[in-house]
Amino acid sequence: MCYLDGNSLGRLPKATAEAIQKMTLEEWGGELVTGWSHWIDMAQSVGDQLGSVVLGAKPGQVLATDTTSVNLYRLALAAIKDRPGRSTIVVDEANFPTDRYILQGIAADLGMNLVTIPNEDLAVAEFERITPDLLAKYMNDDVALVCLQIINYRSGARQDVPALTEVAGARGAYVLWDASHAVGALDLQLDKWGVDLAIGCTYKYCNGGPGAPGWLYVSSAVSNQLHAPVQGWFAQKNQFAMGPDFERAPGILGYQIATPSVMGLTSIASSMSIIEQAGMASIEAKAAQGTDFMIELFDAWLAPLGFGLETPREARHRGGHLSLTHAEADRISIALRQFANVIPDYRKPNTIRVAVAPLYNSYEEIFTGFERMRDLVSDGKHHEVSLTEGAVT
Ligand SMILES: *Cc1c(COP(=O)(O)O)cnc(C)c1O
Repeated sequence: MCYLDGNSLGRLPKATAEAIQKMTLEEWGGELVTGWSHWIDMAQSVGDQLGSVVLGAKPGQVLATDTTSVNLYRLALAAIKDRPGRSTIVVDEANFPTDRYILQGIAADLGMNLVTIPNEDLAVAEFERITPDLLAKYMNDDVALVCLQIINYRSGARQDVPALTEVAGARGAYVLWDASHAVGALDLQLDKWGVDLAIGCTYKYCNGGPGAPGWLYVSSAVSNQLHAPVQGWFAQKNQFAMGPDFERAPGILGYQIATPSVMGLTSIASSMSIIEQAGMASIEAKAAQGTDFMIELFDAWLAPLGFGLETPREARHRGGHLSLTHAEADRISIALRQFANVIPDYRKPNTIRVAVAPLYNSYEEIFTGFERMRDLVSDGKHHEVSLTEGAVT
């Protein structure tokens, strides 16, 4: 199999299967409720591990918890509440659906104005890249929050995090960065880049497994000033005093809602120790070389067959995946699975995404995957598949 979809769901690490088995049989099965003595703070300890291994964050700023969507909702509200009197949220049309939908809901609930940077404007630089000048056009003193992706999920364009954070910050707005398609592929340096708020998932390049918890990052510069909604008992100072009234715990602890997902966190911890051994600098370098290699193969083999490339050609402007377009992308992506044992990712209407997950994709696997795609399309094999609704995921 050529697995080129590590940006949707990372592969299962052997060590993780063992870690989960051990957790299940020895810890849950053996320790029962006494296990909570060492499970209870796992959202923070695995959060710190995520922070140091993949986010460039000092301890006490990351929780591994909930989902990206829930974390987005909560941090967006926290930021907006910290900018009273401002009533605008800025997002880009190319942002991930859940991000746009959640912000639409917040804007409706709070009577705010949601401004969406349209795709035509995003095309000005290159494939959804947002230049500081472009963002500046959308900034004014009414903007409370800007929400952007570090790597755009569709085009794979990489945004200039420090520069854009600075442009929004200069007008007094928060930026909430969604790192879902970047974390585990790029050597993120959230502390150094001056980021205040970020969120992301762990089941893509971090190989945490389907539905593994997401994470949230709140810089220590702002964590005591912001208040995320949902005052669960894990955010309570002196939680087990079980007191009558909520009193927020200081720091990142005040952002936790409830009982940690111990199974999922066990999986993330296992993944993090593998990534730590490889090192994010090497992983980012291989993402750049692997996508360079894919672009060479695209130019030589796929462009002549009617494919287009919708991802920046300069490695510093992209992450670990490429967006290829073709008029028959739907048939091609079904046929690749059915006849060629190549797993890409399909996005309506005409996009096939292919990723280098640097930890496990070999150059040979990339070469073979592209070779099979070339042969399949030049032989017209994709015309043999029938298009039934819901067949493509
Ligand atoms: C994958 C992804 C998500 C997923 O959100 P969930 O809450 O985990 O379903 C959100 N945002 C972006 C940018 C993504 O790439």
